[in-house]
Amino acid sequence: MKNTSHLTLSLFFLLGTLNLMASPSSVLIIGGGPTGLGAAIEARKAGADVTLVEKRATYTRQNALFLHPLALGLFEKWNAPIFLMKDLEFKGASRGFVLIKDLEASLARQANEIGIQRIEGEFIDFVEGSHKAIIQTTDGNKLLPYDLLVGADGAHSQVRKKLGIDFHSLGESLGGLSVIPAINPEKEITVEIKPHPEVFVKKVTIPSSTLFFIQNQPGRSLKTINQSEMIQFVSEAGWQEEAMKMEKEGLFHIENVPVHLQRAATFSDSAKSVILLGDAASSASFYQGTGANFCFKTIQLAAELFRSLPQEDAYDRFNHDMEIEVTELINISLPLF
Ligand SMILES: Cc1cc2nc3c(=O)[nH]c(=O)nc-3n(C[C@H](O)[C@H](O)[C@H](O)COP(=O)(O)OP(=O)(O)OC[C@H]3O[C@@H](n4cnc5c(N)ncnc54)[C@H](O)[C@@H]3O)c2cc1C
Repeated sequence: MKNTSHLTLSLFFLLGTLNLMASPSSVLIIGGGPTGLGAAIEARKAGADVTLVEKRATYTRQNALFLHPLALGLFEKWNAPIFLMKDLEFKGASRGFVLIKDLEASLARQANEIGIQRIEGEFIDFVEGSHKAIIQTTDGNKLLPYDLLVGADGAHSQVRKKLGIDFHSLGESLGGLSVIPAINPEKEITVEIKPHPEVFVKKVTIPSSTLFFIQNQPGRSLKTINQSEMIQFVSEAGWQEEAMKMEKEGLFHIENVPVHLQRAATFSDSAKSVILLGDAASSASFYQGTGANFCFKTIQLAAELFRSLPQEDAYDRFNHDMEIEVTELINISLPLF
């Protein structure tokens, strides 16, 4: 009996060790946007102690996101209800429609519920020669240790800069988004594009509202895309009734959005145990509604990495799979730049 319990204990200990070996035990996430929050939840579900560092105190951004089935499947898997998200259809497939601030607030709530520690602060640099990051907070600088660090700090990633990874620009543009109450409410999402000599202009109708996504055409170097210019473009494209509504009843406008088509030269640094995800790895046009969906694909690849570490080729496989996703994102967006 004594021998049996001894054997059980040894097995338990061995399995515990294997479990620790099967994924990094402490994960530090830089950036609490959609990518950082999703990656934090995946790492926690893989058994890691997770700390998330975000420099913003509150979520306020109004970018309108159309999310594909992959993202919707992840929310279900994480048991993370997204408050205020509308369930819609586009050409027979599911789409979630949500403002980014509501998505972030919902994921942050789920992260908190499953024990992810959140620190308000800003990643500054790595400590040379050790797996530690310097985080600036209102209480001074903190040195946070990690087994794996996830750079999910957006298109201007400081993590990427401090790793010395090049970021290639493949094009720059300017955009704008204007939202009005729906004129002819539709059950499904409908998308209409009309020609305009200066800008790409796309009208997307959902049950409650109509959205106009506008992006400067290549070679047309408009200095601004503000509210009155958006009204003019929409009218010139032939949507006069909508243009009038934009003027009188516009719900909100996002003006002068800098749009960058860019990608990192690589997506990880195995010596420092760091990976880049989401916009920190590659960012594209908001006009096609692919950016956030790409972010969720990269979260899935991070989840595979969490499970496969410390296998020797884990980072190579991660880089390889990221390359495929980034190439697809770039190819979809390239014609707009
Ligand atoms: C107007 C607009 C409309 C869009 N519409 C769509 C759409 O319909 N569909 C779609 O798929 N995509 C859309 N996108 C793109 C989408 O918003 C982005 O791809 C997505 O937000 C990227 O998520 P992320 O978490 O990687 O980066 P971000 O959202 O940029 O988040 C990065 C986070 O890191 C934090 N941070 C940055 N630096 C530091 C630091 N040093 N230390 C700590 N924290 C830091 C930031 O505060 C931020 O919270 C749109 C974008 C815009 C601008």
